[in-house]
Amino acid sequence: MVDKLRLMAVHAHPDDESSKGAATMARYVAEGHEVMVVTCTGGEAGSILNPAMDRPDVLENIAEIRRQEMARAAGILGVQHRWLGFVDSGLPEGDPLPPLPEGCFALVPLEVSTPPLVQVIREFRPHVIVTYDENGGYPHPDHIRCHEVSVAAFDAAGDPERYPELGEPWQPLKLYYSHGFSRAKLLAFHEAMIAEGLESPYAEWLAGWPTDRPDVIERVTTRVECADYFPVRDEALKAHATQIDPESRWFAVPSEMQRKVWPTEEYELARSLVDSTVPEDDLFAGVQERVTA
Ligand SMILES: [Zn+2]
Repeated sequence: MVDKLRLMAVHAHPDDESSKGAATMARYVAEGHEVMVVTCTGGEAGSILNPAMDRPDVLENIAEIRRQEMARAAGILGVQHRWLGFVDSGLPEGDPLPPLPEGCFALVPLEVSTPPLVQVIREFRPHVIVTYDENGGYPHPDHIRCHEVSVAAFDAAGDPERYPELGEPWQPLKLYYSHGFSRAKLLAFHEAMIAEGLESPYAEWLAGWPTDRPDVIERVTTRVECADYFPVRDEALKAHATQIDPESRWFAVPSEMQRKVWPTEEYELARSLVDSTVPEDDLFAGVQERVTA
């Protein structure tokens, strides 16, 4: 029986790790496990979303500044961090949509973008990997690519025939999709704010929520209690100062209300090589029992 397990979260851009599953990671770190965040791109194409940081000197050095922000966030969360080194595709906007920039992550063939992740998996040897679902959580081309690369690497890393030059095979035991942004959760916060006589910042967001597919909450298998780590998550988010406006709706719901209304982060068990019964409350459910060395 070992008590120290390893969790890897694969994300598309710096800041995604702090907005999706950050409190879960902080909890596992606090419980003595090892957590590594892998970021596929440098976030070079991200706009500056915090008015206080919207300055020419920031824009000129955005790539370097985002590296520093990521390092700060990783320190706050207590996680290890790796860059895969691909270039941000940007979120295409307009009608018709502009083509993606040449060489960007979403255009790099999977045969090229998968091996670097396989290599990191074989080095860190995670028991559990978390990534996005096939829709990317939201339809950014890098998020969809991140899903594809993560699934491909999950399948390849344990296969001795694949990429033998990239290290000893290592088969992670579980793969999860993170489902932090459900309509159900937003609605719960919206209603709690109104019930307290506070202004809900989510009315417009809810009204524009796509209804062409079922809410992701219906796919959730696993809810991880992590309310104690919401303040850590908020600090990590704020470390991404170019991306996160401290006055924004990210921070609109008081911490105590979040704890009361929605104290968990949600995941969907997508692949498992161990026995565990869903619904689960732990990403490592069934893993501890399987790991003997
Ligand atoms: Zn992103």
